[in-house]
Amino acid sequence: MDLGIAGKSALVCAGSKGLGRACALSLAREGVNVVIVARGQEALAAAARDISALDRGTVRAVAADITTPEGRAAALAACPSPDILVNNAGGPPSGDFRQFDEAVWLAALRANMLTPIELIKATVDGMLDRGFGRIVNITSAAVKSPIDILALSNGARTGLTGFVAGLSRKTVGRNVTINNLLPGLFDTETLYSRSVSMAQASGKPVEEVHRHRMQPIPAGRFGDPAEFGDACAYLCSAQAGFVTGMNFLIDGGAYPGTF
Ligand code: NAP
Repeated sequence: MDLGIAGKSALVCAGSKGLGRACALSLAREGVNVVIVARGQEALAAAARDISALDRGTVRAVAADITTPEGRAAALAACPSPDILVNNAGGPPSGDFRQFDEAVWLAALRANMLTPIELIKATVDGMLDRGFGRIVNITSAAVKSPIDILALSNGARTGLTGFVAGLSRKTVGRNVTINNLLPGLFDTETLYSRSVSMAQASGKPVEEVHRHRMQPIPAGRFGDPAEFGDACAYLCSAQAGFVTGMNFLIDGGAYPGTF
């Protein structure tokens, strides 16, 4: 299916690795011109090379911390009027909520709630004026099934979800949609580094801990980031103009409920 977005521009935050990189690749495969943002130069350059090798749209890489005003300014300078915005950043630390002081909470809110809101604020009016816009926020399965040790993530991402629920109904009338993608367990660096911490805490071998984490997933495996990227590209497609304010869980069947 041709997604009808060739020639559109996309700003993909945290786009050098994992889920963000996969979204950038899937969009570029559709002929979208992408700007990817991340802090580390090396992974950013490697991702830009992979995107460029598709020989479809253009790619620009911006080395910046998207959670800072300066980082967002650099990203928006490279892509001032995106047709597509993919909001993403690293997740906050896990732990007992009693360990987290106000500064830790504010950092989590800044990264996983306020940064996406600031980027939406900076780009949505241009999308409305042009009569096309697709905004996808990468959140987490923890929005639907909160995990106790992920208090910071549960709180910040649910705050973003509430904000999006209101705004997305205001923008869809002018063909600007805003949706959230909720990853379950996907095979990325972040997932593996969490297995390393769990192995250290339990004294078990990392590979054993990592494999054990697959067990509750009915699909019997972790998600492939490419599967996530293609779901993102669909939400950004011309055909998805009637889909807004939704929370799409992609978790291999891990969520046990009917809805
Ligand atoms: P990943 O593979 O580790 O990639 C993280 C990406 O974010 C990298 O490109 C990283 O590059 C970039 N990044 C992190 N902080 C940034 C910042 N302040 N400014 C700009 N770029 C930044 O992680 P992932 O698994 O794709 O996770 C993406 C998001 O999904 C995270 O919020 C994570 O918590 C959430 N999530 C993931 C899973 C999963 O199973 N993978 C499940 C639920 C939720 P630099 O470090 O070089 O900046």
